[in-house]
Amino acid sequence: MNVSGRVAIVTGGGQGIGKAIAEKLASYGADVVVVDVNLEKATEVSEGIKRMGRRSMALKVDVVSTQETEEMAEKVFKEMEAIHILVNNAGITRDGLILRMKEEDWDAVINVNLKGAFNCTKAVLKYMTKMRWGRIVNIASVVGVMGNAGQANYAASKAGLIGLTKSVAREFAARNITCNAVAPGFIETAMTDVLSEQVKTDLISKIPLGRLGGAGDVATGVLFLASNASNYITGQVLNINGGMAM
Ligand code: NAD
Repeated sequence: MNVSGRVAIVTGGGQGIGKAIAEKLASYGADVVVVDVNLEKATEVSEGIKRMGRRSMALKVDVVSTQETEEMAEKVFKEMEAIHILVNNAGITRDGLILRMKEEDWDAVINVNLKGAFNCTKAVLKYMTKMRWGRIVNIASVVGVMGNAGQANYAASKAGLIGLTKSVAREFAARNITCNAVAPGFIETAMTDVLSEQVKTDLISKIPLGRLGGAGDVATGVLFLASNASNYITGQVLNINGGMAM
């Protein structure tokens, strides 16, 4: 699973799963642009990647902004001379039962998780099309496949991301650009730290492998889908969930 000489953009790369993906791609040879709304965290990750001997940049980008994502792609192509891999990982939650869910919580989650991926995808496709090679990996979720009480906005955004994945896969296959999704189950990060011990225990009882996943478990799946090892795979959803949904 070699990604040597590839230039990758990882959104939401400042912490958690995005950080693990950025570091995994770098450790397998890629130059990595770490994109996040939190520039301080993105810079820390990017500095670590440079210490590994790879080229890296940290960029402050809100993926919801069409202008910022277009400028991001332009800047990366100009400075790194290529864009081979895009990982749409930036995501948020604003949980609540539907009857109590505020309109702004619905909009915020759909905007970051779904519109953000659309913006970044559209921005990089221009360059990937020129190079006739590209790998786009979207970080969906098990709840986009199964649904989840209290997460209508989040589940809808992740199910939407799966639809986006399959549509991009169909539109760009002829240009040698693949687009796949990874659907993680419950992974130990800041996003799941907020769950109570009781909720975590209940969740674990529904996971055949008997534990929450690690960010590295997700990063390995992304590496596979970003590398030449997955050349004949497009429009697919790789479930990394300890067997929680089969
Ligand atoms: P996290 O909250 O630890 O990290 C998310 C990162 O995205 C942060 O660095 C944040 O600053 C950045 N971000 C948020 N909004 C942004 C925006 N508008 N523009 C750019 N960057 C932005 O979350 P995580 O657990 O590492 O999750 C990463 C991805 O994996 C998300 O898409 C999430 O939905 C998905 N996921 C997580 C789990 C889990 O259990 N943790 C499970 C399934 C899917």
